[in-house]
Amino acid sequence: VKKDGNKCYDIILEQDFQALPAALKETGIIRKKVCVVTDSHVAPLYADQLKEYLIPIEESVTEFVFEAGEASKTLATVQKLYEHLIRNHFERKDILIALGGGVVGDLTGFAAATYLRGVGFIQIPTTLLSQVDSSIGGKTGVDFDCYKNMVGAFHMPKLVYINLHTLDTLDDRQFASGMGEVLKHGLIRNASYYEWILGNLYEIEEKEPEVLQHLVSESCKIKRAVVEKDPTEQGDRALLNFGHTIGHAIEKLKDFTMLHGECVALGCVAAAYISWQRGSLSEEEFFEIRDMFVGFGLPISLTGLNTEDIIDTSRSDKKMSGGQVKFILLKGIGKAVIDKTVTEQEMKEAIDYISVKS
Ligand code: NAD
Ligand code: ZN
Repeated sequence: VKKDGNKCYDIILEQDFQALPAALKETGIIRKKVCVVTDSHVAPLYADQLKEYLIPIEESVTEFVFEAGEASKTLATVQKLYEHLIRNHFERKDILIALGGGVVGDLTGFAAATYLRGVGFIQIPTTLLSQVDSSIGGKTGVDFDCYKNMVGAFHMPKLVYINLHTLDTLDDRQFASGMGEVLKHGLIRNASYYEWILGNLYEIEEKEPEVLQHLVSESCKIKRAVVEKDPTEQGDRALLNFGHTIGHAIEKLKDFTMLHGECVALGCVAAAYISWQRGSLSEEEFFEIRDMFVGFGLPISLTGLNTEDIIDTSRSDKKMSGGQVKFILLKGIGKAVIDKTVTEQEMKEAIDYISVKS
């Protein structure tokens, strides 16, 4: 059971949907109107399977499907979802279910936070990234104009239910993107988990069930432990932003053509580079980190971007947090710290390191 702010919720890890009805009953989610929100890729794969378990215990089950992709994470899609809920007479007591990756989870959570000033929702994350990261912690939202996650709310799900088998259909690039966050978890918080990942590279890539189970469970625990202490990001939750200062800038400058975890990998290498230059990581540790991202099919170098643009973009990101440049650095593997003293020159050298000059 997870305690987040004042609310507790379970994170359940299973190999199928069989345990879902019992979990819903335990959470009090029975005889409700339920809306399964999902995207055009996930709907044909899992929506019917899921509904089979919902129909016997709920008052009614409807489905809202939108076009897959980040481009749908907008207020326009939320508005269509509101219309669907109004048309189907959804009330305060009723429930939204997010079935899909982070896009579905963020959008559904935001709609749930705002429809009738807040209805309950549950997360059924189906990408590695959403299972280990975005479904946990209650951050919800949508993009606005070119600004990512510009409009949002903290809204905790009533339950997170993970069916590990949904990962079977996820393509390799999306899986690798999720590994970007997994590796980050080990690096910021848990050296022995990081070592375990290193030692199980092959088994992870083969998606061996026991190994995947351990991976998702450990990563969830790390994310949960961090957000539990600091649900609204007043302090340590910022450690989860390791690799994200530069990562977000790259994501934006590449117009979201690169996946989130790919940009995070680049950002992690850059931040680890600064940590190495400052002497808080050894050379051996730095190169091991770099090679591990490569091992999981993630990029560690970048073409076509200008160092100044990356610095400017990450700075404009930071204006949002009171003008202070908050960088997350490593003081050894498994230990991240917030640092506000990273200079422009240090950033420049780190970005130069990950840039391939053409
Ligand atoms: P996504 O939701 O776009 O999913 C990636 C792709 O995989 C999509 O095409 C989707 O349709 C498809 N897909 C999903 N599950 C599948 C499955 N089981 N089999 C086959 N295909 C499947 O992307 P994502 O990487 O899951 O999430 C990225 C989003 O999450 C971003 O919008 C990001 O801002 C957000 N995010 C939020 C938080 C948070 O704390 N709320 C944290 C990190 C990221
Ligand atoms: Zn992230």
